[in-house]
Amino acid sequence: MADRLTLEIATPTRLVVTASVDEIVIPGSQGYFGVLPGHAPFLTTLGIGELMYRAGRDERYLAVSGGFAEVRNDKVIVLADTAERPEEIDRARAERARERAERRLSGRTDEEVDYTRALAALARAVTRLMTAGRLG
Ligand code: ATP
Repeated sequence: MADRLTLEIATPTRLVVTASVDEIVIPGSQGYFGVLPGHAPFLTTLGIGELMYRAGRDERYLAVSGGFAEVRNDKVIVLADTAERPEEIDRARAERARERAERRLSGRTDEEVDYTRALAALARAVTRLMTAGRLG
């Protein structure tokens, strides 16, 4: 068993992270789960939330939404629909997305509302604001 994990995080358009890490916490579609070296093989879909990876005491965070994660032989591959580091997040855009979603969910709008879609948009916006907030 290796004493570290190899992590690769990619979106359809770019490789976001390649790193050797001690621990990863992934937002699966059924909830958050942690991965340590020696984890059993595992394939799951991603939800919307913050992915954390830690090397020593250095913890890094990404806002991710949708896609897949595979754990095999101490290698973790995350293929996310979207993934942003804190410094890549446009907070004003995320605020606008949050307000738009909240307005749709409140019913105070004349447009036809797809609530499932609005809820997912709200979760993406809130996650981005939380991850951007990691910068301080
Ligand atoms: P918006 O309504 O602002 O487009 P969204 O949640 O619908 O937000 P997504 O479909 O999740 O956006 O993402 C589309 C692309 O835009 C992805 O590449 C994603 O990384 C990027 N993106 C979305 N919101 C932000 C943001 N606030 N800051 C930086 N990149 C963002």
